[in-house]
Amino acid sequence: LVGSDGSIHPTIFAEMSALAARTGAINLGQGFPDEDGPTEVLEAARAAIANGVNQYPPGRGIPDLLVAVAEHQHRFYGVTLDPERDVLVTAGATEALAAALLALIGGPDDEVVVFEPHYDSYAAVVALAGARLVTVPLRWPDFQPDLDDLRRAVTDRTRVILVNDPHNPTGAVFGAPVREEVVRLAERHDAIIVTDEVYEHLVFDALHVPIATLPGAWERTLSISSGGKTFSATGWKIGWVTGPADLVDAVLAVKQFLTYVNGSAFQPAIATGLRLPDAFFLGIGETLAAKRDLLGRGLRAAGFAVSTPSGSYFTVADAAPLGATDAAAFCRELPHRAGVVAIPMTAFVTPERRGEYATLVRFAACKRVEVLEEAASRLAAAG
Ligand code: PMP
Ligand code: GLN
Repeated sequence: LVGSDGSIHPTIFAEMSALAARTGAINLGQGFPDEDGPTEVLEAARAAIANGVNQYPPGRGIPDLLVAVAEHQHRFYGVTLDPERDVLVTAGATEALAAALLALIGGPDDEVVVFEPHYDSYAAVVALAGARLVTVPLRWPDFQPDLDDLRRAVTDRTRVILVNDPHNPTGAVFGAPVREEVVRLAERHDAIIVTDEVYEHLVFDALHVPIATLPGAWERTLSISSGGKTFSATGWKIGWVTGPADLVDAVLAVKQFLTYVNGSAFQPAIATGLRLPDAFFLGIGETLAAKRDLLGRGLRAAGFAVSTPSGSYFTVADAAPLGATDAAAFCRELPHRAGVVAIPMTAFVTPERRGEYATLVRFAACKRVEVLEEAASRLAAAG
């Protein structure tokens, strides 16, 4: 994404969504839902606009959303947050990640340890912050890290261990030993844990466990989430960071000069969403699990080998059984050959490791059932 000359290229998501638009293909590339979220949340945004909530909100976020984030974390994870000190609203998880990394990274000798493949903004922001990215591979088909690899990656140079759980693009949900090792290593090497949990409610097998709830984790962890996935409103860009007040203040210090504030009318709407009954939050995981199963069956019937994700919007498939040797070329051709867009996994890995992921493709399951069925039948017909 960031060239050796420091230039920044268009993201893979922009490129592949443009390809979908140009070819009329079904877009199973970029992860966004093709249906609106809960009516209460949409209505709350309309009401806020009608009621004049249209100017700059406070720098930390509107008090009602800060309280709603704290209540939500208490309800689902038993975490007690001081809404005025331990919570910060950001322009999506993307800004939260950028502001957190820019705040924490001190200089070019600092290292950020991250699992790979990883969400594309991580490497870009680490490069913008001028630090070094150290990656720990997640391998097909279960995408759990090898703990020895993780131990080798974390050293006294590690400033941040950046964890994304549930994981984009692999769909992995990390086991307890992984979470525990992350905390142990962060304590031993005095690193900060930054955890991206935007898919916290999109889990299929077990409830999500935030790293911040582990013993020893809270004082060194910044947790990030967003309303985009949970409330099917990816364009609203209301995210938040939670953690100890001194760390959150450091993020605020950077955030105020990135966007200052954002989304005044969407903030009360996301607060409304965070207060929806438990059944809503369980329901979105169940609905998406059924779509994951539908997509997985379709991909297998079309000849792919398929990994079974435990969370997130995504399913990873191996196109090698279809004769593919280069997923990027395969994905460029797929819209023309089958009328479907997907993302090559090589887009999420550092160049040195692309060989290991050369035939893997990421498909998004967060689409309407009829869209997934149509994609499956197109892929089967294309063989
Ligand atoms: N992290 C991960 C892992 C994501 O998948 C996404 C959404 N694509 C983001 C962060 C960005 O979230 P937001 O839209 O809230 O900025
Ligand atoms: N999170 C989505 C994905 O991984 C889209 C992100 C984006 O477009 N930047 O597909």
